[in-house]
Amino acid sequence: MLPDKDRIFTNLYGLHSWRLPAARARGAWDGTKSFIARGHDGVIDEVKASGLRGRGGAGFPTGLKWSFMPKNDSRPSYLAVNADESEPGTCKDREIIRHDPHLLIEGALLAAFAMRAHTAYVYIRGEFIAEREIMQAAIDEAYAAKLVGKNNVNGWDFEIFVHHGAGAYICGEETALLESLEGKKGQPRLKPPFPANCGVWGAPTTVNNVETLASVPDIMRRGATWYAALGRPGNTGTKLYCISGHVNKPCTVEEEMGIPLRELIDTYAGGVRGGWDNLLAVIPGGSSVPCLPASLCDTVLMDYDSLKAVDTALGTAGVIVMDKSTDIIRAIARIAYFYKHESCGQCTPCREGTGWMWRVLERMADGNARKGEIEMLLDVSHQVEGHTICALGDAAAWPVQGLIRHFRHVIEERIDAAATKPSVPVAAE
Ligand code: SF4
Repeated sequence: MLPDKDRIFTNLYGLHSWRLPAARARGAWDGTKSFIARGHDGVIDEVKASGLRGRGGAGFPTGLKWSFMPKNDSRPSYLAVNADESEPGTCKDREIIRHDPHLLIEGALLAAFAMRAHTAYVYIRGEFIAEREIMQAAIDEAYAAKLVGKNNVNGWDFEIFVHHGAGAYICGEETALLESLEGKKGQPRLKPPFPANCGVWGAPTTVNNVETLASVPDIMRRGATWYAALGRPGNTGTKLYCISGHVNKPCTVEEEMGIPLRELIDTYAGGVRGGWDNLLAVIPGGSSVPCLPASLCDTVLMDYDSLKAVDTALGTAGVIVMDKSTDIIRAIARIAYFYKHESCGQCTPCREGTGWMWRVLERMADGNARKGEIEMLLDVSHQVEGHTICALGDAAAWPVQGLIRHFRHVIEERIDAAATKPSVPVAAE
């Protein structure tokens, strides 16, 4: 179990105030000026050495991402904070914004400094009204205390703005976020050019997740060696895990990277409803990743590489637990409907494929399908995956692939059962 002394998010549950004096008492804004004194590359090198990987889902090394930003460009550079947390099963960034917003503001300043940016935009999910108000109030406190703004005490001019989205899942995709930030329809851009080259307003931009940025101040304060010693090689540090579904005590908790999935559920979420033997499957990283059957959940570790080895992903670490009462076909059909609804419609495989997969899954949930359609569904999912502008196509395809990989027999049994069911006699008029 992660010792309390190694926790970054010490006010995760809001037991204390999020206000600046309380945040400072917990350590926020302590030594920030001295980190900036280490220079742009000094901050990047420390974050690189920590092994921190992006907590938004993709898991790209953060320090490396920052190093892609141009060093001698006549255009201004920007930081965009991705606070558009919308992945079903995920509720971690909102806890940081609600209860520890100063860690995020301090992290944004350090990241912006590392990338020679003087401006950051916090793009916050449309439904997060109270969170937006807290975020803005915390920023106002930071301005009043001259921690940010022009000629601030930390020695790097830094403006930070909150931009409220309108509630579209796709605006969590980094280039759709930038389009929306510019006041346009939130649709992903074709890449290249990548945002580090041509982002918001056509200028170099890096988009970072809330949890990623909020982890940076502690990495600077306690050192990369401390952070890298947590977790496993290539999968370092702590992580916020969100555990929901058929558990006794759903929760969000900070734990070490690489904690066994079973330990995570049993220790923090009070175990599976009806006991571990009642477990059917777990979606380990938010709705877009393939599910794991109970047999794999016994031993798998919760980190990027361990989950990749069993053909799924850590994603946002939104752990969705399903017990044996779950109709797994209908559950995946519901997820498929979500992606159909959220597709922006630019790419034909995504626009047409998401709806097609959802309709077939709905029929399969009723047993109203032919067994040959299972292979056809798998084939279509592969035609969507990797053939679209953004990762929403993959996000729609992977849950379907996970279902067929692990629960093909359930689909076949449902089809068999429907075929042997006596037809209902038509009632006489
Ligand atoms: Fe839009 Fe889907 Fe294409 Fe992404 S993959 S750009 S959501 S149509």
